[in-house]
Amino acid sequence: DPSTEAYRRRHEITVVGGNVPAPITSFETGGFPPEILKEIQRAGFPSPTPIQAQSWPIAMQSQDVVAIAKTGSGKTLGYLLPGFMHIKRLQNNLRSGPTVLVLAPTRELATQILEEAMKFGRSSRISSTCLYGGAPKGPQLRDLDRGVDVVVATPGRLNDILEMRRISLKQVSYLVLDEADRMLDMGFEPQIRKIVKAIPPDRQTLMYTATWPKEVRRIAEDLLVNPVQVTIGSVD
Ligand code: ADP
Ligand code: MG
Repeated sequence: DPSTEAYRRRHEITVVGGNVPAPITSFETGGFPPEILKEIQRAGFPSPTPIQAQSWPIAMQSQDVVAIAKTGSGKTLGYLLPGFMHIKRLQNNLRSGPTVLVLAPTRELATQILEEAMKFGRSSRISSTCLYGGAPKGPQLRDLDRGVDVVVATPGRLNDILEMRRISLKQVSYLVLDEADRMLDMGFEPQIRKIVKAIPPDRQTLMYTATWPKEVRRIAEDLLVNPVQVTIGSVD
């Protein structure tokens, strides 16, 4: 389709993989339910960012995604909104554990992602919580015990809680590795691999990264299945 090609060229979008759907260039044509559209309108966003436009339809057809784009390009909603739709489709019992798991490198990032998840998930009644180190475990465990759809976590703290057997990842079927390059730089690879072993293999996996060095390529090969790779601009 020439308009797809034109959009990709204009926004420097490169796609690698089979069966790649056309980008969603407006919120209204994205197939989002009204409660999500309402939150987007409330936020005042005029149109999807290029990474959102191209990665949403891939994620929404349940394919694995590797998305490579710079900071500030809107990656968080890129994975959260398809994650919300995944949750609504499954309607798991909250008490048996989260459906969506987002791993992020730092407390600050995890907190920011949680804020975005709470803001955009509110109208859809999606519950979220955050697990990170450097804070007492008690309140984090209490939130988990109440049951949540989405857990945003740093790998170290999640691994501690997993070893305490205070969380089950058996219901996780949508896994996001956000800032994968930074998580590997920070030495979280062993924790990430342990966490992934606790998640059933028939999941959807999405990896978001600003750079694409060989360490990140290697973990992507191990954890993702036939991913579509979306790149915005040029990468290192
Ligand atoms: P990244 O993870 O790529 O660094 P973020 O997801 O943190 O980027 O998004 C950066 C900022 O852009 C956030 O404040 C977010 O709310 C905002 N944002 C997200 N999507 C859009 C959009 N479609 N239009 C305008 N702003 C957006
Ligand atoms: Mg981000």
